[in-house]
Amino acid sequence: MANKILIVEDEVKIARFLELELKHEGYEVEVVHDGRSGYERGLSGNFDIIILDLMLPEMSGIEVCRRIRRESEVAIIMLTAKDDVSDKVMGLDTGANDYITKPFAIEELLARIRAILKRNRFIQGAQNKKVLSAGKLVLDAEGHRVTFQGEEISLTKKEFQLLEYLMKNKGIVLTREKILDKVWGYDYVGDTNITDVYIRYLRTKIDDKYGVKYIHTIRGMGYQFKDEQQ
Ligand code: CA
Repeated sequence: MANKILIVEDEVKIARFLELELKHEGYEVEVVHDGRSGYERGLSGNFDIIILDLMLPEMSGIEVCRRIRRESEVAIIMLTAKDDVSDKVMGLDTGANDYITKPFAIEELLARIRAILKRNRFIQGAQNKKVLSAGKLVLDAEGHRVTFQGEEISLTKKEFQLLEYLMKNKGIVLTREKILDKVWGYDYVGDTNITDVYIRYLRTKIDDKYGVKYIHTIRGMGYQFKDEQQ
């Protein structure tokens, strides 16, 4: 079955170009040209991915993203007009899975789409398996156990939850706020630097100890868990 993609873009030329390219790749595509339609179709249309422009009439891309995210986990790729880090951070904070800066090469967008579809399948698999792995690092959610090359790593409850969240979102840039919300919860009151503190704990116990690099700092953005790099 073809994957379904919704394009929310008010610039008709760009929308048409994207529609043709994506259809050519074999995706089922629907196009709307304003934020309100994007929100309505995004929720009701059962899409695999929404490509969402930031600057839209009637409702901004950020607002569309925020509202959809309240009710749905559908993957969202935000199109940002300029290379503005604050737009990207805001997009990721409101629940976008990825962003791409205009003008972009179509190949880059296609690669992002494939990565998200692959990740969707991975998450579906992971939810059943409950065992996450990245190279020699294995996290068993049910057995509450983490090993590196078979050697057990002792983690506190929060360190374990943070690592699990990072591994589930392998390859995705996660902002501090997003990590805080997902791992510590919306009602957490205290220092937001707590994420940095716990990232440091994990690095000490895993990256530094075994001479590997899983946890990457993305400057001005947050953190990203990647497959082991020597
Ligand atoms: Ca626009």
